[in-house]
Amino acid sequence: MDLSRLTIDAARSAIQERKTTAVSLAEAMYDRIERDDPTVGAFLTLSKERALAKASEMDALAAKGEKLPPLGGVPVGIKDVLVTKGARSTAGSKILGNYMPPYDCTAVARLEAAGAVVLGKMNCDEFAMGSSNENSAWKPVHNPRDLSRVPGGSSGGSAAAVAADMAVATLGSDTGGSIRQPASFCGVVGLKPTYGRVSRYGLIAFASSLDHIGPLTKTAKDAAIVLRMIAGRDPMDSTSAEMPVPDYVAELEKPISGLKIGVAKEYFGEGLDGEVRKSVEAAIQKLADLGCEIIKLSLPHTKYAVPTYYIVATAEASSNLARFDGVRYGYRADGPGSLSEMYRRTRDRGFGTEVKRRIMLGTYVLSAGYYDAYYLKAQKVRTLLTRDFDQAFKQVDVIVTPTSPTAAFKLGEKVNDPVAMYLADIYTVTANLAGIPGISMPCGQTREKLPIGMQVLGKHFDETTILRVAHAYENAA
Ligand code: GLN
Repeated sequence: MDLSRLTIDAARSAIQERKTTAVSLAEAMYDRIERDDPTVGAFLTLSKERALAKASEMDALAAKGEKLPPLGGVPVGIKDVLVTKGARSTAGSKILGNYMPPYDCTAVARLEAAGAVVLGKMNCDEFAMGSSNENSAWKPVHNPRDLSRVPGGSSGGSAAAVAADMAVATLGSDTGGSIRQPASFCGVVGLKPTYGRVSRYGLIAFASSLDHIGPLTKTAKDAAIVLRMIAGRDPMDSTSAEMPVPDYVAELEKPISGLKIGVAKEYFGEGLDGEVRKSVEAAIQKLADLGCEIIKLSLPHTKYAVPTYYIVATAEASSNLARFDGVRYGYRADGPGSLSEMYRRTRDRGFGTEVKRRIMLGTYVLSAGYYDAYYLKAQKVRTLLTRDFDQAFKQVDVIVTPTSPTAAFKLGEKVNDPVAMYLADIYTVTANLAGIPGISMPCGQTREKLPIGMQVLGKHFDETTILRVAHAYENAA
């Protein structure tokens, strides 16, 4: 079976019609991983036994002529920040180097219940902190489109695996752009749903008010299929919304003519690469050709988004990461001395540089005397940013922006300049602060043949419309 461009429906129907088996598809994927992953570095752990057991189960159904579930036999990969029972889940960190979770993340359990075959765990930046996947404690990921470049981050392994046909779809997490930015760097589709749309139960927390789980796929339709399966209320996550899950796939074909597309000037200013600008503007023109009305608008507080994000995210991270103390689970540094010396040594050796930087920044902005000046102020600005979107969405149905200001940069290019690295998220962090959904779609390439992504942002819980726009664009392009 040709693995390139293999979509969910193509894989599932080939298994349903007995043109192939789920077991042989999984084996073909593992052969591909064995051949190509030594140079890409997308996988951290393979879960072969679990994958083949699920694949056999799907083959047995197909053999009996029973209808396969929506992801029946489809090979997927799971970002390592999502816990998987009995399969090592490290979050890209040494401190969880041997962590074997006793339970499954809800999104993973739901995917498997829909028939998905979990091939393994995907490489990522440590605790999902990063934009290039160079902060993984284990190894960097290389962009399959150009191995000298980063795949983006923090879901770099999830994006690279889909781009390199080592999985049909993957799950990633997005706290400030970590699904959408790597999707754009690797030339695949990445969807961050609305906050509360997908349960976060079993997601190793980075910043709980900003964390989201979502799919990376080859097509908008595949993103719709995966979202449908993982979305919905979960009693294990009190922030998951009690709202019906629409049939995203059925809505995809609705024509988009007459939709109002917002274009915000703040997303096309200084720092935007010329080739990226051209491609995204051409994509907007294509949407106009499809009958959409283009409306210029302003989101005036956008310039505060990156500093606001890096205050809120680090504050929450410093609190979430306090649990890693060498006592309850994960790595413990041995050596002489008191309990507090054990804590200190464990955290010093267990965490990488970027994680330590965030814990220190976060502790600082929450400390007495600085709380009001930083953390509280950032929360207020967060409200202003959310209001910008509320106002804009009174006029338009979706907003189209570039996903990232540049295409994929070289490995090593920004590792010594955290601020330059943080600016890679300038167009994505706003959706996390506001909790609105966003999708990144491939929309062309640079002269050096690097993928370019455009982002479509929508109203709270209106994934349907952004998926429709993405799907229509994909068909037309
Ligand atoms: N790159 C951003 C950061 O480093 C976003 C990470 C993410 O979305 N997990 O925080």
